[in-house]
Amino acid sequence: MSIKEIMEQEQEYIMDTYDRLPVVFVRGQGTRLWDEGGSEYIDFTSGLGVLNVGHAHPRVVEAVKKQAEKLIHTSNLYYTEPQIELAEKLIKLSFEGKCFFANSGAEANEAAIKLARKYAKGFEIITAYNSFHGRTLATLAATGQPEKQKAFEPLPVGFKHVPFNDVEAMKKAVSAETCAIMLETIQGEGGVHVAETVYLKQVRKLCDETGLLLILDEVQTGIGRTGKFFSYEHYGIEPDMVTLAKSLGGGLPIGVLIAKTTVAENFEKGDHGTTFGGNPLVCTAALSVLKVLNEENLCEKAAEQGAYLMSKLNDLAEKDTLIKEVRGKGLMIGIELKEEVASKIVLACLEKGTVINKVSPSTLRLLPPLTVTTEEIDRMIETLSKMLE
Ligand SMILES: *Cc1c(COP(=O)(O)O)cnc(C)c1O
Repeated sequence: MSIKEIMEQEQEYIMDTYDRLPVVFVRGQGTRLWDEGGSEYIDFTSGLGVLNVGHAHPRVVEAVKKQAEKLIHTSNLYYTEPQIELAEKLIKLSFEGKCFFANSGAEANEAAIKLARKYAKGFEIITAYNSFHGRTLATLAATGQPEKQKAFEPLPVGFKHVPFNDVEAMKKAVSAETCAIMLETIQGEGGVHVAETVYLKQVRKLCDETGLLLILDEVQTGIGRTGKFFSYEHYGIEPDMVTLAKSLGGGLPIGVLIAKTTVAENFEKGDHGTTFGGNPLVCTAALSVLKVLNEENLCEKAAEQGAYLMSKLNDLAEKDTLIKEVRGKGLMIGIELKEEVASKIVLACLEKGTVINKVSPSTLRLLPPLTVTTEEIDRMIETLSKMLE
């Protein structure tokens, strides 16, 4: 099929929920992608923060191939080894607790919401404006973006939104019905806004003083993206629950809720479940991702390359009048422009073989694989600076 035919067929058979860019990708390797015509691209989006170890990492490919030949799925009626092995590894990386495996970020957050309600007397969860927690009805209700919610009302009740990085607003929002506070450490879809250290520390303190649960949504910031395995490690705090998804399976769909043991124990048999969650194939993929992250020191690399990329962007911001601000941590970076031209820039970069993404009409986002080299960063900066001109 030609690209034109593919686009026409898509219009006919796929629901119109995505504003896709005019490209058909057929192959990926590391930080590179190729389209159906054989043109090469450098990928600074990583499938929306999913391919932290890069496309087609040989260790991941090998592990998935082997496991697919052995056992893909059994359901959670039975014990399977990869799921238990993965849980043990994740607990060692986080805190004393237990895991629940789901298939996506939204589902991991749904599990957190259900567990918070089961654990506490109250039912209300406070989240931030501009947050993003998913597209299911409950996670959409948790998402602090009224324009995304409007068409789907009535939404599940029990969610209150407050301005991000404002601890006084958070304190005021707490009521007798509150059971938890749910935050991203860096708001990703909301425009790459970084939580201040003092803010998260004060929110942690507020939770300790009032007995509220702190849920951190690390679906996008986790798995080394910001230069630490969990981005909360930058803040010197620990949540009561944390969710991961995007990059955990190296491209295969998996999400997880990790909760402190005293919280986790409130889920009893039959309280929650999923058919696919944590099946042998996705858990084997995730185990290989953790191995690669460790062997290739990708958390440290994300911090180093992130600092380099940030300095290059700040140089550009000094010269270029179109850049208003550069924000982020590690390899999760937002570029705020002075004009609403993000879509144009994304398309122009794509035509020059550089894949970047936008999170608002005036904000670009960079999420390259953590394996990205300084050479590739230089190449991306060169294209971006030309397109900004
Ligand atoms: C992407 C994202 C989600 C939703 O994950 P899905 O896998 O698309 O359901 C939730 N929270 C955050 C912070 C995200 O970035």
